Amino acid sequence: MTQQPASPTLVPQTPALPSRMLIGGELVSGDGPATDVLNPATGAVLQRLPEASAEQVDAAVRAAGAAFSGWADTTPKDRSMLLLQLADRIDASAELFARLEADNCGKPHAAVLADEIGAVSDTFRYFAGAARSMQGALAGEYMAGHTSFIRRDPVGVVGSIAPWNYPLMMAAWKLAPVLAAGNTAVLKPSEQTPHTTLALAQMMAEVFPAGVVNVVTGVGASVGQALISHPGVRMVSLTGDVATGGRVLEAAVAGIKRTHLELGGKAPVIVFDDADLEAAVEAVKNFGYYNAGQDCTAACRVYVQSGVYERFVAALAEAVGSIKVGLQDDPATEMGPLITERQRERVSGFVERARALPHTEVLTGGQTVAGGGFFYQPTVIAGARQDDEIVQREIFGPVVSVTRFDTPEQAVAWANDSDYGLASSVWTGNVGRAMSVSKALQYGCTWVNTHFMLVNEMPHGGLKRSGYGKDLSLYALEDYTVVRHVMIKH
Ligand code: NAD
Repeated sequence: MTQQPASPTLVPQTPALPSRMLIGGELVSGDGPATDVLNPATGAVLQRLPEASAEQVDAAVRAAGAAFSGWADTTPKDRSMLLLQLADRIDASAELFARLEADNCGKPHAAVLADEIGAVSDTFRYFAGAARSMQGALAGEYMAGHTSFIRRDPVGVVGSIAPWNYPLMMAAWKLAPVLAAGNTAVLKPSEQTPHTTLALAQMMAEVFPAGVVNVVTGVGASVGQALISHPGVRMVSLTGDVATGGRVLEAAVAGIKRTHLELGGKAPVIVFDDADLEAAVEAVKNFGYYNAGQDCTAACRVYVQSGVYERFVAALAEAVGSIKVGLQDDPATEMGPLITERQRERVSGFVERARALPHTEVLTGGQTVAGGGFFYQPTVIAGARQDDEIVQREIFGPVVSVTRFDTPEQAVAWANDSDYGLASSVWTGNVGRAMSVSKALQYGCTWVNTHFMLVNEMPHGGLKRSGYGKDLSLYALEDYTVVRHVMIKH
């Protein structure tokens, strides 16, 4: 074990922690059992937060149901104005959100402020515009004497479930397209990271009519399960684990509900001999370890062509060894802790099993960090083989495996040999190769000579066990609407 780096700056006083949920326009405390919300950088309990009771989940869904027809009748322009108002308020409270998120997730405060909060308000702004710009098929006389046209209408009450890795951003991804399309929503943040969503709930109570958006807190087994199984919920949207996706599908089977699933990932990064090696190393250093690797698009499964393999792993080990691990408010901190002790033990287990293999080498990291909090060193494992667990399973931590390949066919076959299909990247100086490899990859997104870049205008979502349905872009708006045919005889 190595020592947790000392931080020159103490974590400043956290603002009053939000604790009230939003149900039918009222901010209310949970009536259910309480769980501890932690600061993962110290392990300290920030708050004991009561969750929603079964009656409160029911009340939230009923409130969303009662608000639906009024909200669905508003014009896109009117919905857009409220989404823009919310975006402005988020920007005005950027520091509050960054503080809450940094303390609740252990993320470096400066990175949350610079990278996340502006992206969140931009999601609301994007969907404010997109709601007014949807397009579709032409109306026409497809049967003589009859005019047909297509409507895209909201689905109804959407139950949304968010994970802990980017709590506020995931709340925005879950709510902005849902509300823009004219649906009403009941959102459950992760029980581990409720604070920014509860702060957002306070704001939304002042912006949206009562019942249009509701927020309930609690663990998956009680509150989450009650929400996805509720007969008043017409569609369930989840970002989370594959196993949780399975539970959503079971509930959907029972209730015949629409579903939208953003599940895990295990992004392959293919580096060819002719790649800009420095840029590829820098990208894996930045995007394999961003958010301590707790990112479904993390650059975590690297395949490097034989000609540059040795140079690549040496440069990567050096770069990753320099990543500064530390507390939220140390301006030098590049990487924070994992979210829980359980997650750290899980990550450590993967590394230990990989280390025990005869052909692998832990080039840097590979240890937990002593002291409070759930820190784990940024880790590079070289010499990994395609069948190794470290290559096949999602780790969701600061661990990158590197595997040597010889031919493009081998790299593509190995990259596609995965249960997951969310994100991938190709590094090459050859445009033709970039085109053919990106075509062959079975992933929702392929980046060429970059990784990790998301924009609100473009879709984010997976194939295979990474799920289906798109977040961001007009495709998300389509996912949260139903196509209807109206035919007029004349
Ligand atoms: P998780 O599935 O454990 O939890 C996600 C949410 O589901 C939480 O709010 C949790 O309370 C809820 N939940 C758990 N059991 C439930 C149940 N039975 N019914 C209803 N809700 C339930 O996932 P996590 O640990 O919070 O997040 C990490 C996972 O999410 C990783 O696998 C990661 O890859 C995935 N993820 C995917 C994306 C993406 O865009 N594809 C983005 C972020 C995270």
